[in-house]
Amino acid sequence: MRAAKATIDLQALRHNLSRAREAAPSSRLMTVIKANGYGHGLLRVARALADADAYAVACLEEAMELREAGIATPIILLEGFVDVSELLLASRHEIEAVVHHPVQIEMLERTPLPRPVRVWLKVDSGMHRLGFAPAAATAAWRRLMGCAGVAARIGLVTHLANADDRRDPYTLTQLETFRSVLPEVDAERSIANSAGILGWPQTHSEWVRPGIMLYGVSPFVDGRGEQEGLIPVMTCDTRLIAVNHYRKGDAVGYGGSWICPEDMRVGVAAIGYGDGYPRHAASGTPVLVNGRRASLVGRVSMDMITIDLRSVPEAQVGDPVVLWGKGLPVEEVAQHSSTIAYELLCGLTQRVKFVEA
Ligand SMILES: *Cc1c(COP(=O)(O)O)cnc(C)c1O
Repeated sequence: MRAAKATIDLQALRHNLSRAREAAPSSRLMTVIKANGYGHGLLRVARALADADAYAVACLEEAMELREAGIATPIILLEGFVDVSELLLASRHEIEAVVHHPVQIEMLERTPLPRPVRVWLKVDSGMHRLGFAPAAATAAWRRLMGCAGVAARIGLVTHLANADDRRDPYTLTQLETFRSVLPEVDAERSIANSAGILGWPQTHSEWVRPGIMLYGVSPFVDGRGEQEGLIPVMTCDTRLIAVNHYRKGDAVGYGGSWICPEDMRVGVAAIGYGDGYPRHAASGTPVLVNGRRASLVGRVSMDMITIDLRSVPEAQVGDPVVLWGKGLPVEEVAQHSSTIAYELLCGLTQRVKFVEA
């Protein structure tokens, strides 16, 4: 059996949920479990986070998977419905929808629904991705209020673009913009993602939307989950399938991009980009061999990586190799791979075996 596996620590997930509650004690939590629970397994994560006040997912398929598994917790579609059939399903299964575009309001106006849907009007406070411009929000609100298919309490939601940088004043600009929209309306509001929860208490409101922090990862540029009291949920590991001796000057792997600086041992571990290990991981990316730090050398292959074993002289075939997780922050691996931890967590493929701890 292939050695590459991901161990999911459900206790850590619950610990991180309690960190979110502690950080935003007056807010309700809409836990973000889109993209297969950030790659950890949608149902597994949803069940472990049964204390959440609601779940947020990107699309209807994700919401339906939860409902079909018998989960009755409120669910919010962050991108809303994309056509009338999705709107009908959302209505039938009591799935709430973010409304970010006039096309969605038109569907609500012309479609008789089995039961009213709860909607969240998305305001573009400055991210410029989804949502109604502040000047258009009041008219959109009125139209929604006039829809028979819209449930009585309409929420107001926005998303922060730069909250991952604690010094960037743009977050406060967005906050001010959002507050200027329908100030007289007594609606439930939601602004903060993980970075807002941990770094910008001003952005806490009736609802917060923790995502990456639940998985034990810092949302901040150059941050580490540990600094925020978070525990990594996913540990990805595999085993050494070869230990080879090469001579000074030997080139390792495709393209010969790494040259042995001396006679040395190079380990081969059974994981590669076909498993979701990032191909852009550069020579020098840390791994743990037998719990000790070693570095990746040469290019990442589809099924294998090569490791400088000079720091682990006792390493032998069969020894465990941790790619990220406990003892090796995924944030650090992401930095060496020109990406973010979110992408690494979401990216493990079908080939990797998932186990719960
Ligand atoms: C993904 C997402 C979140 C969660 O963001 P994190 O940075 O993972 O905490 C919150 N809100 C919206 C709209 C999102 O798309």
